[in-house]
Amino acid sequence: MMVLTRKMIEIRNILTQVGQSNTLTLPSIVVIGSQSSGKSSVLEAIVGHEFLPKGSNMVTRRPIELTLVNTPNAQAEYGEFPALGLGKITDFSQIQRTLTDLNLAVSGKDCVTDDPIQLHIYSPHVPDLSLIDLPGYIQVAGADQPPELKQKISDLCDKYIQAPNIILAISAADVDLANSTALRASRRVDPRGERTIGVITKMDLVDPARGFSILTDQKYPLRLGYVGVVSRVPQTATLFSRGSGNITTAIVKNEKAFFSAHPGEFGPSADVSVGVPVLRKKLMAVLEQTMARSLAGTRDAISQELEEATYEFKVQYNDRPLSAESYLAESLDSFKHSFKAFAENFGRPQVRELLKHELDQRVMDILAQRYWNKPIEDLTAPLAEPDPLSDLPKADAENLYWRRKLDASTSNLTKLGVGRVATTVVAGALQQHIEQLVAQSTFSTHPYAQNAIMEACNGILNDRFFSTSDQVENCIKPYKFEIEVEEPEWTKGRENVSKVLKDELSACDAAFKRVEDNVGRRKLKDVMSFVDRVRKGDVVLDGNGAGGAGGFSSALLAKGREGIFLRDRADIIKMRLLAVRSKQCSTLKNKYYCPEVFLDVVADKLTSTAVLFLNVELLSEFYYNFPRELDLRLGRHLSDSEVERFAREDPRVRNHLDIIKKKETLELALQKIESLRQLEGRSRSTRDAR
Ligand code: GDP
Repeated sequence: MMVLTRKMIEIRNILTQVGQSNTLTLPSIVVIGSQSSGKSSVLEAIVGHEFLPKGSNMVTRRPIELTLVNTPNAQAEYGEFPALGLGKITDFSQIQRTLTDLNLAVSGKDCVTDDPIQLHIYSPHVPDLSLIDLPGYIQVAGADQPPELKQKISDLCDKYIQAPNIILAISAADVDLANSTALRASRRVDPRGERTIGVITKMDLVDPARGFSILTDQKYPLRLGYVGVVSRVPQTATLFSRGSGNITTAIVKNEKAFFSAHPGEFGPSADVSVGVPVLRKKLMAVLEQTMARSLAGTRDAISQELEEATYEFKVQYNDRPLSAESYLAESLDSFKHSFKAFAENFGRPQVRELLKHELDQRVMDILAQRYWNKPIEDLTAPLAEPDPLSDLPKADAENLYWRRKLDASTSNLTKLGVGRVATTVVAGALQQHIEQLVAQSTFSTHPYAQNAIMEACNGILNDRFFSTSDQVENCIKPYKFEIEVEEPEWTKGRENVSKVLKDELSACDAAFKRVEDNVGRRKLKDVMSFVDRVRKGDVVLDGNGAGGAGGFSSALLAKGREGIFLRDRADIIKMRLLAVRSKQCSTLKNKYYCPEVFLDVVADKLTSTAVLFLNVELLSEFYYNFPRELDLRLGRHLSDSEVERFAREDPRVRNHLDIIKKKETLELALQKIESLRQLEGRSRSTRDAR
C-alpha cells in the first residue's frame, strides 16, 4: 500500500521539472508551530538526525520542502539539494550548515520569503514522506526585526496550509491549547478539523493527568486526532550521535521510558496516541490516503495540462521535433552552406575590383597632391606655380620638371605600402561579408555563436595578415624600380582613368551641392566671391581672417573656402578629363603630359600582382580554414550544457524546446499516474472482496 506515496512523490518530482503549476501540486504535510514549540525536534525525530538550522536569530526564513525517500536495501543515509548540485551529503551537520547558509542568505530586511529550499533525504530508516517545514510563528517581532514580520510569517504559512495539504499543527504541552497559534491557523483554513493532525510536544514537562486531558481535548476536536510526543534528544545521545549516528532510537527509548512510567494516562487502556513511532505511522497513513484521494484530480489536471501543451506544440510549432543538438547542427550546416555560396562568388575578379578601386582613390589623392591642389588654406598666400592646367600642355616633352614630377608620383604610389593596404582591404571585406552572413543566418539571435564565428574569422585573418602583406609587398618590389608599359595597357588605362575622373567629378559636384544646401545658394555665392577677391588681392585683410571678415563669420568664410576648393577642383578635373581624352594623351609617348593615365597603368599592374598573392595567401587559406574553425568552435566539441545554452539564447527556440520538454514530462507523469490508478483500483477491489 505504501507504494502510492512513494510513486506520487516521484511524480511530483517529475512535475517540478516543468515548473510548478498550481493545478499540479500534490498533497504534502505542512508543519507549522510557534517558535520553540518543538517543531524542529519533531521533524528531526522523524528523520533520525539533527539537520535543521538552530539559533535564536530566526533561522528558518524559507520553506524547506523535505522529501524523505525510504531506501530499504541501502546502508548509507544521505541528503541532497537537487537545485544546488552539491551531490550526496552524508554528514548531516553539513546539511545543517548548508540550510543555515541558505536561510541566512535571505536579507534581514525581507526576513522571510516563499522561495522554497528543496532537500531530499535518503535512508533505510525514514518513511516515504513529503513534508514542508515553515518559519515558526512569533508573538512579537524582535528589536532588530521588521515590525511586519509577524504578519509575513503568518501569510507565508497560510499560503502553504491550503487544501489538499495536510497540516501538522505543533503545540507544546506546557502552553494552553487555546493559545496555540498553529491550531488557530489551522482552524481558519480547516474549520472542521478534517486535515489537521495535532502534535503535542514536551509531554514530559506537564503533569501526566494534564497531558492526558490535552490529548483527549474536545474543545478543538480533530478528525485525525492528537499525538503526544517527547521528541527532545536525550543529553546522552547527542554526545556521540551528532552529525552521523541515527538519533531515533535514543529519542524513542527516552520517550518510551516516560510514557510507560504512566500507564494509567498513556498505556493501551487509556486510548490516546503517544510516541514518535505512532506519529510516523499516522503521517504515512494519512499522506497515503490523501494522495489516493487526489489521484483522480491530479490525473485530470495533468491530462489537461498535457492537452494544452500538445495544442500549443501543434499550433505554434506545427508538431516539429527539435533538440538543442539538432538545432545547432542545422544552424551550423546552413551557415556553412551560405558561406560556401559566398566563397564561390568572391574570388579573384572581385578581389581585383576591390583593390583597384582602392588604388584608384590613392591615385586621385596623389594627383591632387602633386598636380592639382592650389594652396588656399591661407587666404593671403600667392597662387601656386607652375600651374599644370596652363603650363603642362605647353611644356616641352623633355622638360625635366614634369619628368621628375611623374617619377615622384609613381614612386608615391608604388611605395605607399601596397602589401599592407591590399591585405587590409581584402581582410576587411571578408570580415564584413562574414558579419553579413551571420546577420542573415539563424545565428543572428545568438550572441554566443556570433562571437565564436567572428573570433574564428578574425583569428584566421590575423594569423595570415603579416605574411600575406609581406608576400604581396615583396612581389611588387620590381615596380619600385622600373615600370614597362605597353601600348594596349596605355589604352586601357586611358579608358579607365576617364571613368574614375568622371566619378571624381560627380563626387566633387555632390560635395559642392551639400555645402550649397547647408549655407544657402546666394550666401555661398557671396562669400565665395569675397574669398576670391581676397585671393586676387582686391581686398586686403588684417591677419588671416580668423575672426571673420567682410561681414562674414569665420565659419562662413571656411564654408566659402570649401566651396572654392570644390569648384576649382571640379574645374581642374574637367580640364584634365579633356586632356586625357585629347589626342596628346592617346599615346604612351606623351606619358609626362598625362600623369593620370600613367598612374592608372601602374595601379593596374600593382593590382594584378597583388591579387595573385592575395588569392593564394589569404583567400584560399581563409576558405579552407574557416569552416574547420567553425566546426571546432560550434561543432561536436561543445559540451551538452554549452549546446543547450546556445539553443536557449533564442527566445523562440527556448520556448520550442521548453514545450517539447513539458509535453514529454507530462506524458511520463500521466503514464505513471495511470498505472498507479490501475494498481490502486486492483488493490481496492481485492480489499473489498475480502
Ligand atoms: P522549534 O523552535 O519549534 O523548532 O523548537 P525546537 O525543536 O528547537 O525546541 C525548542 C526547545 O524545546 C529546545 O530546547 C528543545 O530541546 C526543547 N524541546 C523540544 N521538544 C521537547 C520535549 O519533548 N521535551 C522537552 N523537555 N523539551 C523539548
